Amino acid sequence: MYRTHSNGELRDKNINTQVTLSGWVQKIRDKGFMVWVDLRDRYGITQLIFDEERTPKEVMDKASKLGREFVIQVTGTVIERESKNPNIPTGDIEILVSEVTVLNTSLTPPFTIEDKTDGGDDLRMKYRYLDIRRNPVRNKLVFRHKVTMAVRNYLSEKDFVEVETPYLIKSTPEGARDFVVPSRMNEGQFYALPQSPQTFKQLLMVGGMDKYFQIVKCFRDEDLRADRQPEFTQIDCEMTFVEQEDILNTFEGLTRHLLKEINNVEIGDFPRMTYDEAMRRYGNDKPDIRFGMEFGELNAVAQHKDFNVFNKAELVAGIAVPGGNSYSRKEIDKLIDWVKRPQVGAMGMVYVRCNDDGSYKSSVDKFYDQDDLAKWAEATGAKAGDLICVLSGEMNKTRTQLSALRMEMAERLNLRKADEFAPLWVIDFPLLEWDEETERYHAMHHPFTSPKPGQMELLKTNPGAVKANAYDLVLNGNEIGGGSIRIHDKETQSKMFDYLGFTPEEAKAQFGFLMDAFQYGAPPHGGIAFGLDRLVAILGGQETIRDFIAFPKNNAGRDVMIDAPAPIDKEQLKELNLSLTLKP
Ligand code: ASP
Repeated sequence: MYRTHSNGELRDKNINTQVTLSGWVQKIRDKGFMVWVDLRDRYGITQLIFDEERTPKEVMDKASKLGREFVIQVTGTVIERESKNPNIPTGDIEILVSEVTVLNTSLTPPFTIEDKTDGGDDLRMKYRYLDIRRNPVRNKLVFRHKVTMAVRNYLSEKDFVEVETPYLIKSTPEGARDFVVPSRMNEGQFYALPQSPQTFKQLLMVGGMDKYFQIVKCFRDEDLRADRQPEFTQIDCEMTFVEQEDILNTFEGLTRHLLKEINNVEIGDFPRMTYDEAMRRYGNDKPDIRFGMEFGELNAVAQHKDFNVFNKAELVAGIAVPGGNSYSRKEIDKLIDWVKRPQVGAMGMVYVRCNDDGSYKSSVDKFYDQDDLAKWAEATGAKAGDLICVLSGEMNKTRTQLSALRMEMAERLNLRKADEFAPLWVIDFPLLEWDEETERYHAMHHPFTSPKPGQMELLKTNPGAVKANAYDLVLNGNEIGGGSIRIHDKETQSKMFDYLGFTPEEAKAQFGFLMDAFQYGAPPHGGIAFGLDRLVAILGGQETIRDFIAFPKNNAGRDVMIDAPAPIDKEQLKELNLSLTLKP
């Protein structure tokens, strides 16, 4: 038997018992006549003591040869510690060792395996298995497990059935590029890895499964933005005979359960906001509502003077930065530089200082008087001591820029508190989204999303105005879930494909199976998918998902530990009937 106890288990009450422990050597203090070793496993650390006077000589000798991260097994007696360590649960006791076996030696680890490590990111990723020995990393994986179990239990209790769907499939359009897998047995043909199990979960509804969920890997070959992973995990769900309201209630229930179970936070009804309202008030379809700084639209009170920049703008909007009047001229100039960075892209920024005596001082005093500025303050909700920051230009761009500024200011003012949770449903998303590149409309969610009742006709006359039965769940400024009520009849689905520019042949080739299925009594259905990695990170009070993934890829989509992706050999290529021509 390798062990009678774990290294986190022994207490006072075990004193004088004989135990066997196994684990990794975390630390050695060798005084010659006495050697202390911290023995670590997943459960904790137990101090071992080797003492010349009480420990057999050959065991003493072995102790002196131990090194960091050796795997050892010891037998000994639990004794009371002379100097107790109140910082660890086993700090009252130590093990007086009588036998030691080295189960495996270790090279010197490339970084220290303690809570605070000297290892940089790259090094820790290359030796991820060593990183996982550290508490902060291991605890996050255990935390993820806890969240996952809570999800499974909750949904299972609500009659959801977890069904696995295949990974080797045909393209599912979620708006990204597919990862493809060549088929050896079908020359010249490829599988695609699922961007989501979307079509399969709909087929499960046709199959009468009624309530489905799956904690499932999805694959999207996107240009990697920071903190995106090419493979990620969804909590994918679908329900039959439901309207939007049913879905919102069910998954609000799940989210509330998680917040209670995991974070001990109780939240009442989640607020709801239409997409249009979110864009107007926050310039963003996933607003962080933990803090204010809502947009004030200023067109009506800023376009009546000779200031041309504003007069020709589609939107003039501002936010009131709390306490911002304390900024020096230099700090404000820096802020202006910040909004002019290419990542934000504003042409400039107008500002108004709200003085304590109720007067205003603006960067456009030449054009606007105190009455004008008072109206701006009213529209943005600015109080004495605040700084109003105003951006202007084309509507969507200005909203995006002002939203970026709002988030930046919240970050600087420390208003994004990790232990505060503000969920929000954003509903009534547009069905379509204009794509500048291809100069046509694309499905904003995916082509299986149904338009709001009675809006199919509007597709012909004003496609951009058509709203969908689509919703997102937002938590602290992150989209943690999104879904829709689906189209469930063949005719509407073909019209939608047609509208999205698929020829009937293309639609049939790609999604014939779904439209066929719709002809055999497809029930009304809808669903949602949560991004598990991000959800776990947010519940864990962090915004980077990488730490919550056991073996994540880096920003270039590489696994630096196993060194993937990698070339394959000629034989393999031949077998797959592939030839490789690399760009010069
Ligand atoms: N398949 C969708 C997605 O991955 C979610 C859904 O519509 O249920 O975003």
